[in-house]
Amino acid sequence: MSVSSINPATEEIIETFEPHSQVDVDAALAKADERYAHWRLTSFDERAKLMEKAAEVIESRVDDWAPAMSREMGKPLAQAEGELKKCAWVCRHYAEHAEAYLEDEKIKTDASQSFVRHLPIGPVLAVMPWNFPYWQVFRFAAPALMAGNVGLLKHASNVWRCALNIEDVFREAGFPDGCFQTLLIGSDGVENVLRDRRVRAATLTGSGPAGASVASISGDEIKPTVLELGGTDAFIVMPSANIESAVETAIDARVQNNGQSCIAAKRFFAHEDIYDEFRDRFVEGMKALKIGDPLADDTKIGPLAMKSLRDDLAEQVDKSVAAGAKPLLETPSLPDKGWWYAPQILEEAPESAPAAHEEMFGPVASLWKVSSLSQAIDRANDSPFGLGSSICTTEKTEIETAIRDLDAGSTFVNAKVASDPRLPFGGVKSSGYGRELASDGIRAFINRKTVSIA
Ligand code: NDP
Repeated sequence: MSVSSINPATEEIIETFEPHSQVDVDAALAKADERYAHWRLTSFDERAKLMEKAAEVIESRVDDWAPAMSREMGKPLAQAEGELKKCAWVCRHYAEHAEAYLEDEKIKTDASQSFVRHLPIGPVLAVMPWNFPYWQVFRFAAPALMAGNVGLLKHASNVWRCALNIEDVFREAGFPDGCFQTLLIGSDGVENVLRDRRVRAATLTGSGPAGASVASISGDEIKPTVLELGGTDAFIVMPSANIESAVETAIDARVQNNGQSCIAAKRFFAHEDIYDEFRDRFVEGMKALKIGDPLADDTKIGPLAMKSLRDDLAEQVDKSVAAGAKPLLETPSLPDKGWWYAPQILEEAPESAPAAHEEMFGPVASLWKVSSLSQAIDRANDSPFGLGSSICTTEKTEIETAIRDLDAGSTFVNAKVASDPRLPFGGVKSSGYGRELASDGIRAFINRKTVSIA
């Protein structure tokens, strides 16, 4: 059955694709296996030249691909442009640093020489989401290819134009055929690929159920996985914070990518001494955000990427309000066509409300008043997720306490959580396991071979 990309701002079909058949998928797996046998023997220099070229190809396409990305999944245009430039950055980062990240680790023993050598493992499957349709793929692909592995992409079914463009980047950059291939398959085609003996590992960014499925099949096949799943990141504001800048950061952290980001701050805890000021400014700032055509220069909030996401979010908000959460913003009139959801702040959602414990994938913030940092941290940690966390304060002891006690994969101080090729990225608890980016990312799918020479 053909698969269509639908513009979430207009509900119009943009393009229709024919999925790959089982024969196509088998051919791709054979090609990946064959290519890996040669690619693993290439030097870091050869790989780096091609990866630099990939960065150039991406940069040369920003003007075409950014609007196409906005049309396919609703991201405001400036953010789409920023995403593509960040993809070029991650390619250059690994072109420059891969060799150092993977250099031998010498270890002194009784042998004349002993060390760990980092060797590639083979074809790796990446199951990727639509929310950062280029970035999520390149942050896997750049380290994987620089390490000597080859990549297979199963992208989300609503962004297949992005998926095909990514394959083109590597082709145009001159990577040999089979280094990186896009498989146009649905989620029901993933198990078959994961169980194929030629596929050696998998990485998934997406929802918990998708992650659990990929991890359990991979576990059954004894294949390593990295999972980057959802989050309900806490954002704590203490009395010493610069409130104006905390509000600005809070809004940016919550509504980036129309609120559809795993590392978006979703639960806000403000100290009682500054609560009223923070809340009032937060409300004003969220109210002022321009909702509209993602291609317009001044748009801050576009539509949600799919109807199901909009409907799920609306249900979570309705249930939270019914449970006692207080909505602080009125809903403006929105276009009839398209999957819009206006920014909202829910105050004091009770424990039973979805806003207190579920991931809200859209521009909806939950806000609570707290009387101390320890109360804020206890509430922040009372979540199945543990991806990122932020605290706004200038008190050294509060910063140290937050770093020590927030149960999350990262803590950002006076800043929103953001991924950076130089820093490891990942979560704890139901947010997943393993780390992407930096040296951790390139070592995720590596054989750390022990060598001992008598
Ligand atoms: P999914 O997790 O369903 O989709 C992400 C990717 O996983 C897609 O490529 C999808 O393929 C694939 N997938 C889905 N189910 C399976 C499965 N059982 N086995 C293998 N692959 C699978 O996310 P949704 O798009 O449905 O979004 C739902 C929720 O997930 C969001 O509301 C949000 O909470 C969370 N999410 C988190 C993301 C993050 O960045 N951490 C990103 C996206 C979503 P296909 O598209 O073909 O179904």
